[in-house]
Amino acid sequence: MRKCALSKLPDVFEKIASEMTLFLPVDREDGRAEYQQWVPGKALSDALTTVKSPKDLFFPQTEDLMRFKVEGKKIAIDDIREDVEPFAVFGVRACDVRSLDILDRVFLTEPRDSYYAEKREKGVVVSLSCEKPAETCFCTAFGIDPLTSAGDVAVWKTETALFFKANTEKGGAFLKIIEELTEDTAGEEVEAVKAKTEKILQKLPLRDVPVNAFGGGKTQALFDRPEWDTLSESCLGCGTCTFVCPTCQCYDIKDFSAGNAVIRYRCWDSCMYSEFTKMAHGNNRVTQKERFRQRFMHKLVYFPENHDGLFSCVGCGRCLRSCPVSMNIVKVMRKIGGKHNA
Ligand code: SF4
Ligand code: SF4
Repeated sequence: MRKCALSKLPDVFEKIASEMTLFLPVDREDGRAEYQQWVPGKALSDALTTVKSPKDLFFPQTEDLMRFKVEGKKIAIDDIREDVEPFAVFGVRACDVRSLDILDRVFLTEPRDSYYAEKREKGVVVSLSCEKPAETCFCTAFGIDPLTSAGDVAVWKTETALFFKANTEKGGAFLKIIEELTEDTAGEEVEAVKAKTEKILQKLPLRDVPVNAFGGGKTQALFDRPEWDTLSESCLGCGTCTFVCPTCQCYDIKDFSAGNAVIRYRCWDSCMYSEFTKMAHGNNRVTQKERFRQRFMHKLVYFPENHDGLFSCVGCGRCLRSCPVSMNIVKVMRKIGGKHNA
C-alpha cells in the first residue's frame, strides 16, 4: 500500500494529468457534484455521489458510430469513432465500480461492443472508499462493500492522508506514475477509518431492503402482483431515473443527414418512454404500468436470472434523489418484496 499527505493531492492530480486525461467529481455551483476533466485549481468533491455516474465516460449519452457515403451505386462505410487516449477516473465509489461490472456483462459479452470495450481498456478506475455513507445508500444490500473498493486502484482517505492500493496490473502501472509523491505503508490508519464507517453502515435506514424476495426465477411470482398498478400510478414516464442510473444501458441508434453523408449515432434511451422499442407493428408495452414494471423486473429479476444472480441495481440512491414524484426502487422493493421477505 502507498500513502501520501492529503495536502499533496493537487500534486498527485497534476502528475497524473501529465500522463493521461484525468476525470474526477467536482462541486458545481448548485452544490451538487459531477465528473469533470481535471485542470489546475479543480478540487475533488466530498460528495458521495455525482448527479450522473461515471458510466458516461465509458458509455456516453450520445456517440457517433459510423458514416455512410453514397457514391453512385456504392456505399462506403467509414469508422468515425474518435481515438481513445488513456484516461483515469478518480474517486469512483464502490457502487459505481460495481455498476461497471454490470455494464461489462452487457457490452463485453460476444458480440463485444468495441466502442465501450476500447474505453474500458484505456480507462483506469480509481475507487474511493466511502467515509460517511448517506441515508439514501443501500449498496450493502446487494453485497457491495463500500469500505474495500475494487477498481484498478483502491483509495482510502483519512483527515490527513490518502492511501492507495493497486488491484490490477493497470492499477500497478498507475501507481508508478505517482510513486515519487507516495511512500510505502502498512496502512493501519485505513482500518481505523473502516471501523468508524462500519458503525454508520449499521444504522443506515435502507440497509434492510428485501433483496431476498427478488432474483432469478421469480418472474411468475412477481409479474402479476397487483401492487404494480398503484406503484406505477404516479410515474410520469420522464426517464430521469434511467438517465441517472449507473447500470441502465438501453440505447437507440439513429441516422442523421450530414450533407453528402449520413452519420449513424447512438444515444441513451429509456424503458420508461412510451416510444421505447416501438416497432413497425406498434409498441409492445402500451401502458406506463408495463414500462414501469419492466424497469424494476429487469433490474431485480431478469438480470440476475441471466447473470449468475447479479442484481442490476447497486444501491447508489441516485433515483431516490432525482425522481420528481418520489418514486424509486426502494419503494418498489418494499411494496412488492416486503411480505415475501418476512
Ligand atoms: S419513476 Fe420517477 S424518475 Fe422514473 S420515469 Fe417515473 S416519474 Fe420519472
Ligand atoms: S436503480 Fe436507483 S439505486 Fe439502483 S443503481 Fe439505479 S439509480 Fe442507483
